[in-house]
Amino acid sequence: MQISIENLNKVYPNGNWALKDINLEIPSGMFGLLGPNGAGKSTLMRILVTLMKPSSGKVTVNHLDLMKNRREIRSMLGYLPQDFRFFAKLKTWEFLDYTARLAGMKNRSQRNQAVDRMLEEVGLFEARDRNANRLSGGMKRRLGIAQALINDPKIIIVDEPTTGLDPEERIRFRNLLSTISTRDVIIILSTHIVGDISSTCENMALLNRGKLAFAGSPEQLVKEAEGHVWLIKATEREYLEINEKFPVISTIPAESGWEIQVVADSINGYYGHPIEPNLEHAYVYFMENKLNQWTTA
Ligand code: ADP
Repeated sequence: MQISIENLNKVYPNGNWALKDINLEIPSGMFGLLGPNGAGKSTLMRILVTLMKPSSGKVTVNHLDLMKNRREIRSMLGYLPQDFRFFAKLKTWEFLDYTARLAGMKNRSQRNQAVDRMLEEVGLFEARDRNANRLSGGMKRRLGIAQALINDPKIIIVDEPTTGLDPEERIRFRNLLSTISTRDVIIILSTHIVGDISSTCENMALLNRGKLAFAGSPEQLVKEAEGHVWLIKATEREYLEINEKFPVISTIPAESGWEIQVVADSINGYYGHPIEPNLEHAYVYFMENKLNQWTTA
């Protein structure tokens, strides 16, 4: 599977320029789309799931033009929106059966099989007779992924994957997506939480204010931040000054003052040393330093 995005622009009728000349290749596997609120992630997702037309540019899925083959591409899509909700009072299996019918699975015994297999896969088989709207947050999220996967989609789009999940459910949900990503599918995780990306995505893109700020592997992003993350050993007197001067990542009390992690090209005048960046550091580096140069251009 391959999605190619070429010179994509979206300007809303009120003049908001939500996507600015995006060029991006999305291969099979898990793909993270990271960016702060307002970056343009939802706009891009809405275009990819064919709910909205771009202002200009082109998207192809395995060489099929997205705008010209909407019906065919829709049949390849599974979508888990951020605010996945269900209103009907249905048992868990009934809900999934209902979404399978919506997806066009007409044959009843095939549908029953697919529903049972899906319930097993997301770990909800035991809960199949429980009312779907009584499930826990994590279970609802898993039911959400089950409904997105029921028609065996080739492209799975998950918006804000771990919102509202506790740490254990978060890990479970991520592992579930990782397992699915070993098939020949594309899973796009759209998120503003760095932790959603780090452990699972082979490739990622960083969006900010409608522009593509980075595309590559999380490791490459981290590499670009090398030498730009510092640990400063600060005195009480320096503490406020440093908070004003640099983007601060963390502050820990130390023996005679503070240990402050900052993003900076250099820390002239302060006592400290560069540290090995992680993805969160790299994200701050891109947002605070690199991007400021680009977005003001
Ligand atoms: P994200 O999902 O990363 O938070 P969005 O795609 O929702 O970003 O928004 C990108 C930009 O487009 C923001 O400036 C937002 O205010 C604007 N925007 C989003 N939806 C609309 C809309 N329907 N009409 C006008 N502007 C919009």
